[in-house]
Amino acid sequence: MYDRRMRYEGTVYRPPSEANSFLLQATIGCSWNHCTYCAMYRDKQFRVRPIADTLEDVAAAGRAYGDGVRKVFVMDGDALAMDIDHWEKILTALSDTFPNLRRVSCYATALNLLAKSDQELGHLRTLGLKLLYIGPESGDDVTLKCIAKGASFTDHVEAASRSRRAGMKQSAIFLLGAGGAERSVEHATASARLATAMDPDFLSVLTLTIIDSTPIHKLAESNRFEMPSVESLMRELRMIVVEANPTDAIFRSNHASNYLPIGGRLPRDRDAILEVIDTALAGDVPLRAESLRGL
Ligand code: SF4
Repeated sequence: MYDRRMRYEGTVYRPPSEANSFLLQATIGCSWNHCTYCAMYRDKQFRVRPIADTLEDVAAAGRAYGDGVRKVFVMDGDALAMDIDHWEKILTALSDTFPNLRRVSCYATALNLLAKSDQELGHLRTLGLKLLYIGPESGDDVTLKCIAKGASFTDHVEAASRSRRAGMKQSAIFLLGAGGAERSVEHATASARLATAMDPDFLSVLTLTIIDSTPIHKLAESNRFEMPSVESLMRELRMIVVEANPTDAIFRSNHASNYLPIGGRLPRDRDAILEVIDTALAGDVPLRAESLRGL
């Protein structure tokens, strides 16, 4: 829930599944802020908000919603980067303020996770941080380098295993089109391999949208990056669904950037999901119109 009473700085973003969560802005921007396709925090210099301000926002939400808050999403782009002292104070205030709180979640990068010890991650989990949204975007190391993700296939596997050991759930996000037309197949198959190795509880795909202010836009303008065709993007989606083999993940492509919103569980519903994709590839299911796609 976006709350006008909060003193949000700039535009704030959350995953689709956090639509009903209280959005708490504890950090501003992204501590990495280099990914070539990302425009979300380019206008923000990363910093941790003063703890007193963040706790005032928690108290204000407590007065406004109290019992009604079940989920909290801590922002901005990679709030896990905050140090343990900040997290401790915030998580304690959240559980003291919202009696029906079921989970706290945030975006995290592999680098954030690897920078914390097993003991620190376990402590955060005990205090209520239960779900991390991690966006490797690709499992292909060449693509990861080109998009300046700052972490490799192996880093993401290690990060996922660390968060799992700490008892946190994971939502892994991949980006159709991230490898461009040139590495479309490599990107999709390696992403499926990484999704299998990370073994997340939630697995979702978004579709690359080239935004004017980003480095990837400059590359596209100078013909050094070519977006795959819509059909190739659909084939990337298909490859991921065919080849990804997590233990039991809720799979979604419901983000506004996607041409075909689908969902189910992988591997359980693989055949049913593939049937929808194949019907769309045959032209028998309409894709989301370009004008209706969003970021
Ligand atoms: S880590 Fe996430 S928020 Fe930060 S620049 Fe990359 S995509 Fe954007």
